[in-house]
Amino acid sequence: MKANGGKHTAAEWKALLATSLACAECNRPWEEIPKRPDPRYKNVWTKGHKIPVYHGGTDDISNIQAECYECNFRKNAGALKR
Ligand SMILES: [Zn+2]
Repeated sequence: MKANGGKHTAAEWKALLATSLACAECNRPWEEIPKRPDPRYKNVWTKGHKIPVYHGGTDDISNIQAECYECNFRKNAGALKR
């Protein structure tokens, strides 16, 4: 992964997650998102970047959002296709 600078702490991410009741991308509440196929991953939310890293987004908390794994994976799949 390319480093674009910026960083955030685990506490900042936790605080953000605590105020995020739904996916920032598709706006579905967490309870409406199907469980992940891999039972090792219990949470349907993932840490995502508002501006994707491959578009120059940073790892700063201002560029971080909680999004469901489906949106996160779809965005990453799009990045790979380029
Ligand atoms: Zn989503």
